[in-house]
Amino acid sequence: MDFDTDILVVGGGLIGSAMAIALSSIGFDVTVIDRQSDQLSKSHVFDGRAYALSHASIRMLKALGIWNYIEENAEPILDIKVSDGRAGEGASDWFLHFDHQELEEGPMGHLIEDRHIREALKANIKKSKQIEYIYNTEVISKSDDDTGVSLNLSDGRILRSRLLIGCDGRNSNIAKWSNISHIGWDYNQSALVCAISHEKPHYGIAHQFFTPSGPLAILPLPGNKSSIVWTETKDKAKDINIMRDEDYLSALSPVIGNFLGPISLVGDRFSYPLGLSIAESFISSCTVLVGDSAHGIHPLAGQGLNLGLKDIAALTEVLALAKRRGENFSSKDVLERYQKWRRFDTSAMAVVTDSINKLFSNDNTVLRSIRDIGLGGVNATPQLRRSFMRHAAGLSGDLPKLLQGQII
Ligand SMILES: Cc1cc2nc3c(=O)[nH]c(=O)nc-3n(C[C@H](O)[C@H](O)[C@H](O)COP(=O)(O)OP(=O)(O)OC[C@H]3O[C@@H](n4cnc5c(N)ncnc54)[C@H](O)[C@@H]3O)c2cc1C
Repeated sequence: MDFDTDILVVGGGLIGSAMAIALSSIGFDVTVIDRQSDQLSKSHVFDGRAYALSHASIRMLKALGIWNYIEENAEPILDIKVSDGRAGEGASDWFLHFDHQELEEGPMGHLIEDRHIREALKANIKKSKQIEYIYNTEVISKSDDDTGVSLNLSDGRILRSRLLIGCDGRNSNIAKWSNISHIGWDYNQSALVCAISHEKPHYGIAHQFFTPSGPLAILPLPGNKSSIVWTETKDKAKDINIMRDEDYLSALSPVIGNFLGPISLVGDRFSYPLGLSIAESFISSCTVLVGDSAHGIHPLAGQGLNLGLKDIAALTEVLALAKRRGENFSSKDVLERYQKWRRFDTSAMAVVTDSINKLFSNDNTVLRSIRDIGLGGVNATPQLRRSFMRHAAGLSGDLPKLLQGQII
């Protein structure tokens, strides 16, 4: 049977697009399919969404030639301050301070607006002869055999390839059609996401403030602007979400405190229900899951996209080696190597974020004392502090070559 392309990627969001660019860098022809219209050039103005990308992720974007489109719009995260407290009462006396000067590699990461990442991915895809990106088309079913995969598209086309990569996000249909189930639970929390401008400078400091209803992240953007990820219980978030901008700001201001001076909203406001979800397998016949389709974690550590980029780096390296050795790159043996590399690491990160959320998102006096002592203890122990910083920067563990900044 003829193949239309080497690899089909379902989902052309941030992960599917980066996956296609990485695959084209090792010589594969790729077709990306996304049901949305022009996913990559949605917003020419800042819509309020931004991501913290780790030092290692940025090394990968540099290696793939994507970073030069983003660099001038990225804000380095110099320090991270973690504290515990109640809204309106300020932080407790115990806190954790990560200073980037303790890390020889440089800043732990950068904050980047969603639109700048999308624009950079689009520019790279546009100039590639090996990537075809099909917009506005839904994949409606999948079938497979030992040699490859067929996809039925909403426009009536059938596309066939040796390997299918599901980058179709949470509630992945590719996983369902491949009989892969997910384990996980709902956090009964929602993340309220927006950006603010403020009078005083942020000095490149990211703040993670744990309140009883959930963590609040204040992340530095270029200029006197910050990205806000404000976690509240689902019911409270629902009430806040329907508020007018002025009331929303009045609710947000006491949670932030006054260290940034008066604040105002920039762009839109978003709300995301939060849950944990890990695929029971990352692979099935001629099929691989990557990014949120494989794992969705709590955003408190800002690691979801970083984990997806790590999946891409690992899978690209596995496929490149298989190709060079003349192996069938969609064989079970080859795909198993990707699963071994990524599934444990991802589950470990899910457990860590889950435990931190459970330990901090409550007002229990005993747990409060334990976590305050924990924060103070880590802060007073340079080796532990450095180890946490290396994790946040994505520099620990068995790093694929792309995350080391090397071309495969
Ligand atoms: C509040 C919040 C804050 C976050 N902050 C950070 C952060 O600071 N740093 C970080 O690293 N991560 C962060 N994350 C995580 C990050 O947003 C996600 O991990 C990432 O966006 C997932 O991208 P994805 O491409 O895998 O999935 P998605 O963005 O969900 O993309 C899936 C794509 O698949 C397409 N699709 C689905 N089904 C079909 C189909 N049948 N046919 C065709 N197309 C289909 C969809 O249209 C979509 O474009 C955060 C998450 C949240 C909720």
